Amino acid sequence: MKKEDCIFCRIANGEIPSDTVYEDDCFRVILDLNPANPGHALILPKEHFADITELAEPYLSRVLALAAKIGQAQMKALGCDGFNVVQNNGEAAGQTVRHFHVHVIPRKREETEKIVTWTPHESDPAQQKKIAEAIRAAL
Ligand code: 5GP
Ligand code: ZN
Repeated sequence: MKKEDCIFCRIANGEIPSDTVYEDDCFRVILDLNPANPGHALILPKEHFADITELAEPYLSRVLALAAKIGQAQMKALGCDGFNVVQNNGEAAGQTVRHFHVHVIPRKREETEKIVTWTPHESDPAQQKKIAEAIRAAL
């Protein structure tokens, strides 16, 4: 994808204005336009990577530390008690913008529902062994 066609490339590089909470040589962190909670932030690399499978250095080794820093700042500034770090890869996983980004979502103790939910299923030990073997072989 060309940089001109990617909304997050344009926001990350300052061509489109945004509510920026942090910026350095590699990243811009903005507030999500449709937040799950007030303060919901998006970490955007300034270079285009579609998803985590494309993400390269130095972004790869810096992005989690930045998520921790943003979450701590949200707790201090907004009085939240925790935060979710969420990152979607591919349409099937709910990714709607194909420019790698990390969600940092402030959470209050009184919110009981989980933001990332799934239905736990019983596992079959034989099937688990087969699946683990298939994944090991693919690495
Ligand atoms: P995804 O579903 O791809 O993981 O997350 C995309 C996120 O980007 C959504 O939470 C959506 O609200 C946010 N978003 C989409 N377009 C814009 C925009 O133009 N500006 C901002 N600030 N957020 C956006
Ligand atoms: Zn992009």
